[in-house]
Amino acid sequence: CGIIGYVGEQSALEVALGGLRRLEYRGYDSAGIAVVGAGALKVVRRAGKLANLEKALAENDEGQVVGEGMAGTTGMGHTRWATHGGPTDVNAHPHTDCTGTIGVIHNGIIENFTALRAELFAAGHELESETDTEVVAHLLEAELGRPGSAEATAVAASEGTEGGRHPLTEAVRRVCHRLSGAFTLVVLHRDFPEVVVGARRNSPLVVGLGQGETFLASDVSAFIAHTRDALEIGQDQIVEGRRDGVTVIDFNGEQVEGRPYHVDWDA
Ligand code: GLU
Repeated sequence: CGIIGYVGEQSALEVALGGLRRLEYRGYDSAGIAVVGAGALKVVRRAGKLANLEKALAENDEGQVVGEGMAGTTGMGHTRWATHGGPTDVNAHPHTDCTGTIGVIHNGIIENFTALRAELFAAGHELESETDTEVVAHLLEAELGRPGSAEATAVAASEGTEGGRHPLTEAVRRVCHRLSGAFTLVVLHRDFPEVVVGARRNSPLVVGLGQGETFLASDVSAFIAHTRDALEIGQDQIVEGRRDGVTVIDFNGEQVEGRPYHVDWDA
């Protein structure tokens, strides 16, 4: 339903929560956040209002302040309007792969998720939710290889060789070819804090270009407090967001230009 992704210099947790507050008007039944920092991908997600998520981030039952452990300047947030799987904590986004290395948030519907789930189960993946979204994290895991595996080492070593394209961006591009339906996706990887990758088909994705920071969102209102320089991502395109800017490609890997515009209305 509502999506915000961030890479920059600020606290990603604060930017993501701020963005989700601005997106609340869209209506939602669950909310979640992921932050990459200090070699970890941390995810907190809750059914219900943002206040439930904020409470979970503030203090857990053991008296630990969960949000404090979520330091990092790369992150994302999602408000969910459930289409597949009820509004529960486990079905809330972000979803992760088997090792909790890759985080995915999604707006829309992956129409062919039943077939993809069956394929992933047969290949030994364990999926925990009932959503159509979770398959994306596991398909990315299959593309990138398990951390420490020979495939993963090869992917890491290939960085920069595919026309300078980041391995996470390339993995997202390949996975998009497997998906049918409507999606805006934003993806994070524990080992790649330098990028946040987005993709879209039949669902909106806009970029906010700041100084030393980049925002990906379903709606400009999510980042308008930070920048008004926006870039519209076209149909069947992928954006690699970095601190120093973005690269946009289509699903075939050809570099394309997004449509830049300035948001001049008052939010
Ligand atoms: N189809 C996904 C789900 O049910 C995403 C829904 C949304 O757009 O928020 O989890």
